[in-house]
Amino acid sequence: MRLSSPLDHIKGVGQKTAEQLALAGLHTAGDLLDFLPYRLEDYSTTIPIAEIEPGKATIKAHCEKVTTRMVRRGMKVTSAVLVDDSGKLQAVWFNQPYREVQLKGGQDFYFSGTFDFKYNRYQLTNPTVEAVKDVQVQTDRLLPLYRQVKGLKTQIVRKVISELRPLMTMLPETLPENIVRQEKLYSRSEAMIGIHMPETPEQAARARERFAFEEIFQLLLAAQLNKDANNKLKSYVIPFEQETVKTFVAGLPFHLTNAQRRAAWEILQDFEQGSPMNRLLQGDVGSGKTIVAGLAARQAASHGYQSAIMAPTEILAVQHAETLADLLEPFGVRVGLLTGSVKGQARKTLYAQIENNEVDVVVGTHALIQGKVRFKNLGFVVIDEQHRFGVAQRQQLLAKSEKMPHLLAMTATPIPRSLALTLYGELEVSILNELPAGRKPIDTKLWSPNNREKLYKDIEAQLAAGRQAYVICSLIDDNPDNEIKSVEAEYKKLNTMIFKHRKIGLLHGKMKPDEKEAVMQSFARGETNILVSTTVVEVGVNVPNATVMMIENADRFGLSQLHQLRGRVGRGEHQSYCYLVMSDSSAPSQRLREIEKSTDGFHLAEVDLELRGPGEVYGKAQHGALNLQVAKLSDTKLIHRAQKWAKWFVETDQDLLYYKELAAQIEKYQRLTTLN
Ligand code: ADP
Ligand code: MG
Repeated sequence: MRLSSPLDHIKGVGQKTAEQLALAGLHTAGDLLDFLPYRLEDYSTTIPIAEIEPGKATIKAHCEKVTTRMVRRGMKVTSAVLVDDSGKLQAVWFNQPYREVQLKGGQDFYFSGTFDFKYNRYQLTNPTVEAVKDVQVQTDRLLPLYRQVKGLKTQIVRKVISELRPLMTMLPETLPENIVRQEKLYSRSEAMIGIHMPETPEQAARARERFAFEEIFQLLLAAQLNKDANNKLKSYVIPFEQETVKTFVAGLPFHLTNAQRRAAWEILQDFEQGSPMNRLLQGDVGSGKTIVAGLAARQAASHGYQSAIMAPTEILAVQHAETLADLLEPFGVRVGLLTGSVKGQARKTLYAQIENNEVDVVVGTHALIQGKVRFKNLGFVVIDEQHRFGVAQRQQLLAKSEKMPHLLAMTATPIPRSLALTLYGELEVSILNELPAGRKPIDTKLWSPNNREKLYKDIEAQLAAGRQAYVICSLIDDNPDNEIKSVEAEYKKLNTMIFKHRKIGLLHGKMKPDEKEAVMQSFARGETNILVSTTVVEVGVNVPNATVMMIENADRFGLSQLHQLRGRVGRGEHQSYCYLVMSDSSAPSQRLREIEKSTDGFHLAEVDLELRGPGEVYGKAQHGALNLQVAKLSDTKLIHRAQKWAKWFVETDQDLLYYKELAAQIEKYQRLTTLN
């Protein structure tokens, strides 16, 4: 037997079973080994029948009497009386008439199942049955649970995998030996046995640790290698010019924060290197990322390079274009705006200007990646709210340059360091961990739903003073249709009862993009007083006159998301308020208390990561793509251990040719990651 052996070489695998396994993507012995169980069930302690208690149990007994009867059409019930030295009990199986034949011989079997009160008496229902032998596979042990393979019982999958035990004992090591030794990890072979057929929970845990380490190590090594490859590419050299930077900064109506200075410095350094920059700018909402990007674009323009700045929505693109035009045009830097709304002759003219290098900075939406957009000399690409774009879209924009241009990806989602390593390992990271001076902290309050009257009064006071408010409704369950119902109901309630005399807008994800834009525009212009919305309002919108953020069912949100929503207010000169209304009047959790206390997005992301897992901090879809079987992205310690070794591997120039399996895995990850 080898890893590459087809499944029908395995004892007990007939054509039918092989077909079912193939449908689940399992074609070889090696595929089966890599089909790791997600959990163990503990049936490892056999107890005398006299001591059995309700719950999961394993007994060792023989069968005294067994009968099968038909209770109704298509339902056969087999009942048996099982006996050991201490007593007797009743077991039943549904539609397993073959049990009768199996049990009649009178020899001892193990029975593993759930003992509980059913049909007026205690019984063992549908227990697994296995003859007593040297190594039990289905009973009397820690039983691995596998992901469902359609058409096959777990027992079959377990049995087939257990047949591969001899192969497990001979598996070659896939990690460098010194890593295994120094990290005191199980060898691949020990780990394979320990995960599929563990004798003790400790053995199973160490096996999982080894696999988790390996997964994370591969991921981080792939990122390191991407980074290395990127550093060998050629890009445009954009020399640092103190004068240009100085005049730009002097022209600003405010002082840059230290964090902004540091980030700008890091970017301008990268510009000089000759290899393409690959940098993520992380900064909380309102931390001033746009200025940093603008400063870099100005430097590029002064050397004749064009910049492209892509934003996920039209309204954001328009805002950026206005901000950047104000900042840059005084220096003769020409800013253009390309969105779906730029049509006809205006669009043609803009295309021509871009192609002839008559605009230096082009701000736009997805419209930027269309084939008709041809840059003369694209040197710098900025992607705002980068998680809103797919890898392909990023690549299409980067491909509009002769060489690989410099890339700055920006995000307002603070991500803890350990997560950033696994998700964005190939990027350099700059962090804006400081808000501009003079911002009034947003007054955040957890609010009981019983006290809504008072809350509406407070909001009305703000509206009366000329301010605006957001009201956010959450997804009550996972059904998007219900989300729309809840936001529409809220809209109706506020519109017809609470704030009759006010203008109210309604926004949700199922609306067409231009409908959404129109509603947002009208709110941004101050034509509506209240915007009732789902979380679609989250991204980057700037309405400085909005001072109230009211969030219904706040306990259903992750802290990072609440923090993002809160960042929609507090953007102007006025004091702002964030009201987090609970879904019931019980005391709010410790977790929610954190957001009342803290305005630090990184801190809140750490708390979320610890308490709710990485999906909360980072979009579920995206981290799902990494497809980790064992490792958890919240396992910070393991991530740092693996990171150390990934660095070692690259820095000491280890040769991947020696590690065939590792190389294959890494290639898979390299294709998956963000930028190459
Ligand atoms: P974000 O990081 O959320 O994209 P923006 O770039 O939109 O933030 O900036 C938010 C607001 O803060 C803008 O109105 C911008 O002009 C202002 N701003 C940026 N930097 C500073 C600063 N250093 N001091 C004062 N205001 C600033
Ligand atoms: Mg922004």
